[in-house]
Amino acid sequence: MLSDYEAVAKLLENSGHAVVLTGAGISTESGIPDYRGPQGLWRKYDPIKYVSRSTFETDPKTFWEFNLPMWMQYKAAKPNKAHFLVAELERLGFIKAVITQNIDGLHKRAGSKNVYEVHGNLETVSCLRCHKEYPLEEAWKQFNDGNIPQCSCGGLLRPNVVLFEDPMPDTFFQAVREVESSDLMIVMGSSLEVYPVAQLPAMVPKLVVVNLLPTPYDDRAEYVFHESTGEFSEKLTSVLGIKLP
Ligand code: ZN
Repeated sequence: MLSDYEAVAKLLENSGHAVVLTGAGISTESGIPDYRGPQGLWRKYDPIKYVSRSTFETDPKTFWEFNLPMWMQYKAAKPNKAHFLVAELERLGFIKAVITQNIDGLHKRAGSKNVYEVHGNLETVSCLRCHKEYPLEEAWKQFNDGNIPQCSCGGLLRPNVVLFEDPMPDTFFQAVREVESSDLMIVMGSSLEVYPVAQLPAMVPKLVVVNLLPTPYDDRAEYVFHESTGEFSEKLTSVLGIKLP
């Protein structure tokens, strides 16, 4: 009788095109708070107010005050064993890609190559007027000097993350094509409540869900693990006999 972890290893070995989909839960062990969990940020704050396009446009000072210190903390975070496992699964050919709702950049920093950051990332900000890009640190520097971050042309700088009221970026539609050709998806640390990303698991024949809390997809998954992505990664790593950095 195989353990569920051994069964997932078998699924990975037998799949032709597996992908991993990750959400905030994979980064909590790196010290980044999640949004919808029991201690989730959005139980305290209204995201529409603070992380929306309209607040950015009407009250950029509040927008940057709320988000920027938090984002700079995200950029100082380090990948954890779940990020390293995902990178290793790609390197060894078990998975083709990782699709993430996270903006923290931790998958790339753990070594993942084919990463779809469908909600954008914190590497750069860009000018609303001339589209010139700057590192996020430039916005941080201007903000600390008491200014609303601006381009040299005078246009407002905006973060390259998807805000409420923004359309989904091209990366999302590229991720949809990747998922359409997949036969297995492992969801790690997502409550699968945020659309349109939450529709992706419905497009894959075989599904494994790893999330602390139940998700709307638990019933149709082959295997469900209600545990942290760190615990899951430790078990799967040992079953696969691989070593993480
Ligand atoms: Zn500009």
